[in-house]
Amino acid sequence: MRFQYHKPVPDFYKVDNPKEPLTNISDSQLEKLNSLAIEYGCCGVSYAKLSDEFKREWDVDYDNVVIFKFLMADDFLECEPSRQKAVALDREFQEIGENVFKLADYLRNEGFMACLINPLDDKVSLRALVMQSNDCEILRSNMCLFKEGLNVSFFPIFTSIENLPFKQENDMQWVSKYCGSCGKCIRRCPNKAFDDDERVLGKVCTAHSEGCSDCLLVCPFYKKGYDEVKKEYERRMKV
Ligand code: SF4
Ligand code: SF4
Repeated sequence: MRFQYHKPVPDFYKVDNPKEPLTNISDSQLEKLNSLAIEYGCCGVSYAKLSDEFKREWDVDYDNVVIFKFLMADDFLECEPSRQKAVALDREFQEIGENVFKLADYLRNEGFMACLINPLDDKVSLRALVMQSNDCEILRSNMCLFKEGLNVSFFPIFTSIENLPFKQENDMQWVSKYCGSCGKCIRRCPNKAFDDDERVLGKVCTAHSEGCSDCLLVCPFYKKGYDEVKKEYERRMKV
C-alpha cells in the first residue's frame, strides 16, 4: 500500500460507501469509533467543520472531517538524518495509513459516507484543513502542534456525519505568541532552510529527503510537552 504524491487516493477499502449515507452518529457509535481508533494506534481524534471560505479557497465540496492522530516514534525521529531514516519514516507512515482505511470501513458499515483525504495530495493544504478543527496551531517550523504532542502525524477523512463534536473555539492561540518569541528551530536548522520571512523553503529543507527532524527535536513543545510549556508561559505572563 503506497500513498504517492500527485496520484489519486489509493483505494484500499473493503466496504463501499452507502448509496444513501446517514448524517447523524449516535453517542455509542462515536464511542466505538474512538475506541477503534485507539486500538489501531491513534493517540487522539479531532473533528473539523469546514467553513464556506475554506471550501471556496481550496475548491472542496465536503464539510465534515474526522482527523485521526498518531504519534510518530521518538526513536525514529531522534536518529541522524539519512536516506535510510527517510525510508523508515515513510514506512511507518504507510503502516499507520493502512489502519485509517479500516476506520473508514467501520463508518461505511454503520451507514455513513467516509473517504480518506490523501495525506500527500497537494490539492488541499492539510495543515490549513486541520486548523479548521480549532484543535491545533501551526508553528514557525511549519509543523502542526496538537495537544498530544508535536510528533503527531494525522490522516483526515471526510464524511457525511453532520453532528460530530466540533470545537467552536481554539484555546491554543497563546501558542503563536510563545512561538513568535522563541526562534530556536530557525537558529538550529542545519540547512538554513528558513527564508528572511521565516518561511520554510521546501527545496532546501531535508525533512522528506533525509528525514531531518532537527526543528522538531529542539522545539520546547517536543522536549517538554504542551502542558509543561503552557504552565511555563502562564508563569512568565504573571511576572
Ligand atoms: S522551536 Fe520555538 S520557534 Fe520553533 S516552532 Fe518550536 S516554539 Fe516555535
Ligand atoms: S526539517 Fe531540518 S532542514 Fe527542514 S526546516 Fe527543520 S531543521 Fe531545517
